[in-house]
Amino acid sequence: MLWPSARLRRSRNVEIDERLAQARRENPEAEAWLGLLEAALDESEDGARWEAAVPQAAADRPVKAPLLYRAHVTVDGRAVRKWVRRLLDMNGNGRDVDGVALLEAAVCQDDARSDALAASAGADPHAVRVVGQMAAVPLLRACARSVADQVPATWWEGYCPVCGAWPVVAEYTGLERKRLLRCGRCATGWAIPLLRCVFCDEIQHDNLAYLTPEEGEQTRRVEICRTCNGYLKGVATVRPTAAWSILIDDLMTVHLDVAALERGYRRPERPGYALEARIEGRPA
Ligand SMILES: [Zn+2]
Ligand SMILES: [Zn+2]
Repeated sequence: MLWPSARLRRSRNVEIDERLAQARRENPEAEAWLGLLEAALDESEDGARWEAAVPQAAADRPVKAPLLYRAHVTVDGRAVRKWVRRLLDMNGNGRDVDGVALLEAAVCQDDARSDALAASAGADPHAVRVVGQMAAVPLLRACARSVADQVPATWWEGYCPVCGAWPVVAEYTGLERKRLLRCGRCATGWAIPLLRCVFCDEIQHDNLAYLTPEEGEQTRRVEICRTCNGYLKGVATVRPTAAWSILIDDLMTVHLDVAALERGYRRPERPGYALEARIEGRPA
């Protein structure tokens, strides 16, 4: 029997390569970030290792808690430390940060904890935060794939029903322009009615508006809320964006973030819902 070579089996989707190349051309300043994202996308393809770590959702969690709330995740400690160290090395920073602890802080969006880990290793806190965010992507995607069928159909919160993050984009899909919120971490999509602020639940139309790009780009706009000053990018699309493409699109539309920030709108610093998850490294 002929086996494809390991190299061939690992070869990535051509579409991903093309989008990454385009993102690099248009955003040379984001090279370091794109390198980490590329590694995280590669690692996500290699799903089996991470799928083995997917926890059971806690049965007694509060109704508004995401599926990973207070989850206990057991990972292969050695493999996770190696994975996180690879990213830290790519960033040239924080080699001594404990990979399992950083993964836990990142999954929980606990920036203070991530900064403390960076400080104790004498590393740059911002660089360590970014590594943590990317390091968590393969685990969070594996969790989202496994628990997708447990997301309640009645989920009406503005934050991700799986991992508790705020959405990075609102997609208006299909002919009926259904509003689908997408998580940039685990890629989960969830529907929320039009015209409601995802951050503060404002529904008064007078307080909700859009910023639209001045020319071209008719498919994109920014949803803003005058009550909490939050903003969310929006895009009209035929079908939901592929999981791998969400963060690349987020980078490619950074001019919309700039436009919103210049007008005084912000994305909340606190997570949508604090996960309080625990991650433990199982000895090999
Ligand atoms: Zn999520
Ligand atoms: Zn609001």
